Amino acid sequence: MKVLFWDLDHTLWDFQTNSREALAEGYKEFNLASYGVGDVDEYIESYEKANTWCWKEYREGRMEKTELRGRRFKMAMEPWGLSDDFDLGEKLGQHYIETSPYKTNLFEGSIEVLTELQNRGHRMVILTNGFDEVQYIKVEKSGLSGFFEFVITSDSMGYKKPHPKAFGLALEKAGVEAQDVVMIGDNLEADILGAKAVGIGQIFFNPHNVPHGEEVDYEVEKLSEILDIALH
Ligand SMILES: [Mg+2]
Repeated sequence: MKVLFWDLDHTLWDFQTNSREALAEGYKEFNLASYGVGDVDEYIESYEKANTWCWKEYREGRMEKTELRGRRFKMAMEPWGLSDDFDLGEKLGQHYIETSPYKTNLFEGSIEVLTELQNRGHRMVILTNGFDEVQYIKVEKSGLSGFFEFVITSDSMGYKKPHPKAFGLALEKAGVEAQDVVMIGDNLEADILGAKAVGIGQIFFNPHNVPHGEEVDYEVEKLSEILDIALH
């Protein structure tokens, strides 16, 4: 019976939907329309662009976590000439951090699939690249905690997937060998190639069926397809 390592964001927890809900609430809360930001969708689009850029800087070690939080919101306000408004950027950043982890949209079938896998006797763990204080709230609030033995974050380990040590520390904590584990995740590089490199089995969750040239053990478009895979 395989032990299942699950990714959280964009695999179980519907990051994009949850994030957009939180951003739309921030837009209202701080009345961004009064600053000339006429359209909430334009604001969301601008934020997502800024966020992607800031995360890349963070991943590659050029930006600190504390800076990332407010900076992406200041950058998001650039098209409206508000990127120098330090106070507004910080407030938006704080609101987002306090709102988005409490959102509870999950991918279709998440609860049903986890319930069935648990009933079949699989031990399950969450292995996520994220910050402790945020990821624990997401798991708890969206009703996922009962399915998992533990949640292990890159924040607590000091290593992010696909670093072999991120997988190694999770294996150690679960007390299992790589060959007894299957990693399920949406990120080809971090989750799937990272797992493959250390001898962990892989199920690539690829909901938009994005083409790629990698050989992976299994690939699914819907979480429910996982139930058809033999995971002994
Ligand atoms: Mg993910």
